[in-house]
Amino acid sequence: MIFRQLFDRESCTYTYLLGDEGSRKAVLIDPVRELVDRDIQVLVELDLTLTYTLETHVHADHITGSGLLRSRLESESVLSVHSGADCADHQVGHGDVLQVGDLELQVLATPGHTSTCLSYYVPEQGMVFTGDTLFIRGCGRTDFQEGSSEHLFNSVHERLFSLPETTKVFPGHDYKGRTMSTIAEEKQHNPRLGGGRSLDQFVAIMEGLNLSLPKRLAVALPANQNCGMLVTDAVSGWAPIIRSSDGVPEVSVGWLAEQDRTGFRIIDVRDVAEFAGELGHIEEAEQVPLVSLGHAATTWDREAPLITVCKTGFRSGSAAQELESLGFMRVASMAGGMQTWNDSSLPIRR
Ligand code: FE
Repeated sequence: MIFRQLFDRESCTYTYLLGDEGSRKAVLIDPVRELVDRDIQVLVELDLTLTYTLETHVHADHITGSGLLRSRLESESVLSVHSGADCADHQVGHGDVLQVGDLELQVLATPGHTSTCLSYYVPEQGMVFTGDTLFIRGCGRTDFQEGSSEHLFNSVHERLFSLPETTKVFPGHDYKGRTMSTIAEEKQHNPRLGGGRSLDQFVAIMEGLNLSLPKRLAVALPANQNCGMLVTDAVSGWAPIIRSSDGVPEVSVGWLAEQDRTGFRIIDVRDVAEFAGELGHIEEAEQVPLVSLGHAATTWDREAPLITVCKTGFRSGSAAQELESLGFMRVASMAGGMQTWNDSSLPIRR
């Protein structure tokens, strides 16, 4: 079997690539939206065809790449039958088997972190992909998304700790740089679930965690119910948007120059000195520095078309992505920024 463990530094999420050598068919477990280009490159370089994207659960801390991968590679998305996500091509439950060439993945229902968590067990290779049910020396939180400490404890003891002790454990995240464990190790050393700890002890540990909510919760959950497609993906036609390889929605200087710009909110995210400086600014632009964007945007209309601008298009790209993640539906960054605007001899104000 071909195996790659990939990592997202932002959310500390592991994405796993499993490929069948004979048929060259592959699956990705928990792909991350922002890293779809990386994953496609690995697939291409290893001469693999993506058959399925498998989700261990509906994530709250990052957005899945399954919808983008489906639109670009025609892969099919797999989610729990209980997830309520109509976007999935296949809804699976405990005991189901996914066959990908000679590769066999068994679906284990392991609720607790969320009510719909799945683990994927590859008996032939002695590997289990545990999502957020079982981490290396830890486990996922159980305080939202219908989480239950009791269910998680039972899932781990009945469905994971019952696997052969040599089974390699590959978790959905690791925050300390560890990459894998084994069932035997976790049974012995997991400080929450191993060492013979009781259900009552586990519940007490989980109740004492006092965690803050993931910062992308409000955007990630609805997007992941829709295979990771953002609202902006659905609202097209307001501008000829091209997404950069980093996922930034962009419009060109030439296009914006020809528009009646009173119909847009144009947000220049440079500081005051740059706004008034040599490159000047677009007449209709409002100056809102990048650091205060999130706060300022709380009062803005999320449906009105909005263009972000900076010197070269880098900061305005971050701004556009930030606004997208805040639920703005029609937002794009002006590619090339005021530098390109000036190079095109377009009118400016100082
Ligand atoms: Fe999670």
